Amino acid sequence: MALMTAQEYIDSLRKLNTRVYMFGEKIENWVDHPMIRPSINCVAMTYALAQDPQYADLMTVKSSLTGHTINRFTHLHQSTEDLMNKVKMQRLLGQKTASCFQRCVGMDAFNSVFSTTYEIDEKYGTHYHENFKKFLTFVQDNDLTVDGAMTDPKGDRSKAPSQQADPDMYVHVVERREDGIVVCGAKCHQTGSINSHWHIFMPTISMGEADKDWAVSFACPTDAEGMYMIYGRQSCDTRKMEEDASIDVGNAKFGGQEALVVLDHVFIPNEYIFLNGEYEFAGMIVERFAGYHRQSYGGCKVGVGDTLIGAAALAAEYNGVEKASAVKDKLIEMTHLNETLFCCGIACSAQGFKTKAGNYQIDLLLANVCKQNVTRFPYEIVRLAEDIAGGLVVTMPSQTDFNSDTVVGRNGETIGEICNKFFAAREGVKTEDRQRIMRFIENLCLGAAAVGYRTESMHGAGSPQAQRIMIARQGNIQGKKQLAKDIAGIKD
Ligand code: SF4
Ligand code: FE
Repeated sequence: MALMTAQEYIDSLRKLNTRVYMFGEKIENWVDHPMIRPSINCVAMTYALAQDPQYADLMTVKSSLTGHTINRFTHLHQSTEDLMNKVKMQRLLGQKTASCFQRCVGMDAFNSVFSTTYEIDEKYGTHYHENFKKFLTFVQDNDLTVDGAMTDPKGDRSKAPSQQADPDMYVHVVERREDGIVVCGAKCHQTGSINSHWHIFMPTISMGEADKDWAVSFACPTDAEGMYMIYGRQSCDTRKMEEDASIDVGNAKFGGQEALVVLDHVFIPNEYIFLNGEYEFAGMIVERFAGYHRQSYGGCKVGVGDTLIGAAALAAEYNGVEKASAVKDKLIEMTHLNETLFCCGIACSAQGFKTKAGNYQIDLLLANVCKQNVTRFPYEIVRLAEDIAGGLVVTMPSQTDFNSDTVVGRNGETIGEICNKFFAAREGVKTEDRQRIMRFIENLCLGAAAVGYRTESMHGAGSPQAQRIMIARQGNIQGKKQLAKDIAGIKD
């Protein structure tokens, strides 16, 4: 099958029997729900850009499995150039949506499960790699979106999966049958879960022998029997439900999406199982997936950062202060921070290497350094954007007020006229444009999109401490001590 168009993707979601709950109710038409639709539009953009000849080189690629042209979001990276193109593609998508476009988690899962299953089979003679290749061929041929589901609820963080008072705190096998397994548990804050056709479930931490039943990875359709999602709410999300709030929303077209995904006795046939009890490989999947996703942030967050820098520059222009040296310097600082993140994304890709299975992996140390910087720099970029934009970002009356005909003034002025009069800035700039850019900045810094830009920069792809553990492991302090000893003339 050819690549799907954006419309075909949206229509394909309607055919699924995905169970979505929000505000205590089952949402039947979730595809058109005003709070959910922007996140669907975001994923649809990964399809739309793949149809655009201008972006063909970045968005599409030849499949290593079939030789067919596929969307890069379903690709197994075949070179360091592929790894760099992945980051560039993510920057482009961030620029076009100013949101989290969600489809990367599946791509990162494909590449980590592909290489890990090869190594499990090599040790145990299992058939997980063949299972996975068959599954990925199906995904590529049908241009599907797949969620990479990793983060378990984790319960008591001081205890291993098998020691939890509630065994469901980590996804686990509750029954083994001849034709497959039955699984229970949940995955938290799953990016793009509802919008995905399928899910790949993976363990979230390294495991020991006692955790065998929790060391499990598999694929299942998003509407599998026993599976459902409870939608995660976002800051200012109900603005999307207001009638007269397209400007107040800040980004009316696009947005991210997270959900709690519950598996209540879901049956998984053997052909979709990629890990089942080989506990010592749980850590390998986690490390590889996290590495790829930490690389990803050197692309997506940079693209979103580009839109925020642009918005801050516009806010300055509308206020008539764009020539002030202090403003110029702040924009330089924002650009410097943003491009530093991009450097990290490109560097960990350029230093990538071939895995035993044949696909390419990023340099783990540099990918972790990349994400560690992402836990900091977007916060500073947000601070500078708010600094430039001014307090109006959080004090402006609603769009309804700007449009209101209610008379308030002595001379019959309406609320709308008063708002437009007092929030006008530089001559020649429409007050509405100023209103739009303020709301856009609000949306990215502390509104719904802050999920994808600000707080996700901290916790997405693993919280800061997770990267510091990896940096400690990969940093080779011993080797560095030796360098110092050699030059200082210290003999052991
Ligand atoms: Fe993709 Fe970035 Fe969203 Fe992760 S946070 S899914 S890398 S856009
Ligand atoms: Fe993320």
